[in-house]
Amino acid sequence: MTNISTPNFDGRALINGRRSAAQDGQTFDDRSPVDGRVIAQIARCGEADIDAAVAAARAAFEDRRWSGQPPAQRKRVLIKLAELLLAQRDELALTECLDMGKPLRFARSVDVAGAANCIRWYGEAVDKIYDEIAPTPADSLALITREPLGVVGVIVPWNYPLLMAAWKIAPALAAGNSVVLKPSEKSPLTALRLAELALEAGIPPGVFNVVPGYGPEAGSPLALHMDVDGIAFTGSTRVGKQIHVMAGQSNLKRAWTELGGKSPNIVFADCPDLDRAVEAAVNSVFFNQGESCNAPSRLFVEESIKDAFLEKALALVPKYQPADPLASGTIMGAVVDRTQLDTVLGYIASGQEQGARLLTGGAAVEPVAGGCYVQPTIFDGVSNDMRIAREEIFGPVLSVLSFSDAAAAVRQANDSLYGLQAAVWTRDLNKAHGVARALRAGTVHVNQYNDDDITVPFGGFRQSGIGRDKSLHAFDKYTELKTTWIRIDSPV
Ligand code: NAD
Repeated sequence: MTNISTPNFDGRALINGRRSAAQDGQTFDDRSPVDGRVIAQIARCGEADIDAAVAAARAAFEDRRWSGQPPAQRKRVLIKLAELLLAQRDELALTECLDMGKPLRFARSVDVAGAANCIRWYGEAVDKIYDEIAPTPADSLALITREPLGVVGVIVPWNYPLLMAAWKIAPALAAGNSVVLKPSEKSPLTALRLAELALEAGIPPGVFNVVPGYGPEAGSPLALHMDVDGIAFTGSTRVGKQIHVMAGQSNLKRAWTELGGKSPNIVFADCPDLDRAVEAAVNSVFFNQGESCNAPSRLFVEESIKDAFLEKALALVPKYQPADPLASGTIMGAVVDRTQLDTVLGYIASGQEQGARLLTGGAAVEPVAGGCYVQPTIFDGVSNDMRIAREEIFGPVLSVLSFSDAAAAVRQANDSLYGLQAAVWTRDLNKAHGVARALRAGTVHVNQYNDDDITVPFGGFRQSGIGRDKSLHAFDKYTELKTTWIRIDSPV
């Protein structure tokens, strides 16, 4: 591994403005997938710690130390937090890289920069949103206002740890809520550091708490808590379903879920630029080691161009061979841990057993001794009923299918539990609009895959979740609508 000294990470919770060990003193090892070394001891928090964090968040909300501040002041603090993130960009990027294995350069340019941009954007938005007055009869006035929910629980996954946290805590805090965040047990370090920087930026103690731990031990008590008003979850569809059950079993807290995907990417023979389509297909599915909810992992190519497409795709594969995540030229780093590596290898084996043709990859490699790496993998001859076409692998595996006409492509693309994203490549305007309209997905790309911006909503149809992150629509999750009727007995 590139010679770099590992910082001393503090794995304790941050509750009510102070670092604290788990109440029962337990910890667990945080092992880096880069080389298998233990890089930190993390507080193994449980129900008692969640109770303490929720109590602190509730007290902060009730005395209005944050929600009572004018929007313009909350804006200043959030912008300061975004600036602190950028000032600590190198440290945060290194932390993310060591904690979950992504290339340092992308941790810096995508994760940290994206989180800072998100926090700044919601900070800037919050003093520009107006409430409503309804068109009622003259003897009354109806105000429609938005109020913060109160205490919001946030649970996030390990693939973009800081960025996924930012997508949720930024609008939640901007709206005036108090937050208890439980990061993934696989990558908790940047969230803990984010909470420290939030204090430094001026977010009062108790308003933003981070409680690390395992899902069933720390996540469930948060989702079941009777004094949490809303839960915002990003993670697997399996756990997302449990979150809605837990919300219903407890206090009917508002529950919002951003879940898995198996996104279809449909390339027609009249695609305007085959090289660009190939590059986007390959890059988007291998980026972040394939650990992206929106990875276009089902590629549908029109039969007449499939051979040409695959030849070009295979020519790009060497660029994506895993390498040391700390090295400056690396594009593909380590998958998050050995469990995930085994899951990915299991799916590759199932593809072979079910009769798909392995064109490239398929094996674990060790560019850094002791680390968790898997080759970029492409299967041809996939049918839509194989496990590698139906289930989210969350690793660098592309399943290639073919089709003969638009109706067949759309039918297969929509034949999925998920509906997060999709793409269509064609120069025919009618086909582009018609297919985009027919695809059941929260986002549809036409003749590209990577466009993304904090200004547009992100989320899915079907079992890809309920609700949207990003854009002004995210405020819907963290606010309640209130109507106030006022009687006007006019003296004139
Ligand atoms: P996961 O569902 O296993 O875990 C997500 C979080 O939930 C973690 O913090 C985990 O500790 C917690 N958790 C686990 N069991 C729990 C329980 N019983 N109660 C409460 N919390 C619990 O998901 P993961 O493996 O960390 O992340 C990968 C998944 O996240 C993929 O399915 C991916 O598609 C999805 N994801 C979706 C989006 C999106 O915006 N749609 C973005 C990123 C990742």
